[in-house]
Amino acid sequence: MANSASWKLILKMSLLILFIIVAGLFLFSLIGSRVTKNIDTYTYNLPFKKGTKHRIVQGYGGLFSHKNIAALDFYMPEGTPVCAAREGVIYTFEDDSDEGGPFPGYEKKANFIIVKHNDGSFGCYWHLKKNGVVVKSGLVAKGQLIGYSGSTGFTLSPHLHFSVKRKLDYEKDSFVRTRFNTSSGIKLLENGKIYERLSD
Ligand SMILES: [Zn+2]
Repeated sequence: MANSASWKLILKMSLLILFIIVAGLFLFSLIGSRVTKNIDTYTYNLPFKKGTKHRIVQGYGGLFSHKNIAALDFYMPEGTPVCAAREGVIYTFEDDSDEGGPFPGYEKKANFIIVKHNDGSFGCYWHLKKNGVVVKSGLVAKGQLIGYSGSTGFTLSPHLHFSVKRKLDYEKDSFVRTRFNTSSGIKLLENGKIYERLSD
């Protein structure tokens, strides 16, 4: 007869296999949600006015809408001035929408500005308010007012979504992580923390 020792062995082996499967799925989900390892060498300004501060409400790889993408959401009330994080040329913009909501179906309703930088990358400023684009063509200086925040497109609440991309698609490595000049030093930004733009 199968003695209790062999049943125990079967049980142990089953538990081990189950553990390997669960651990494998866990590791896979970590790898699956990972954002790009690329970090820009440029030091960006925080994309709002000097001497003001805003909290990151969704960081790199955030599960709500940043899975696999290196983007940052700064909480800010509608109508907050948005400033260029880096100098460049207005590449394209949209500011005729007044619709937004917490479903992916709203994605195409976002107002935005895309600034092309001199290394070919793009600074993307999303969810601006209706008629909230101030600079519509030509050069923008680092720190210059370019628009006003809002809550258009796929969004739970008013905020500014900012990302830097090397290509204008949603591939993981089209994004690049960026360091910012903050009142607490030059750093990558973390979810949940508040960052203040230095007065210069
Ligand atoms: Zn976002």
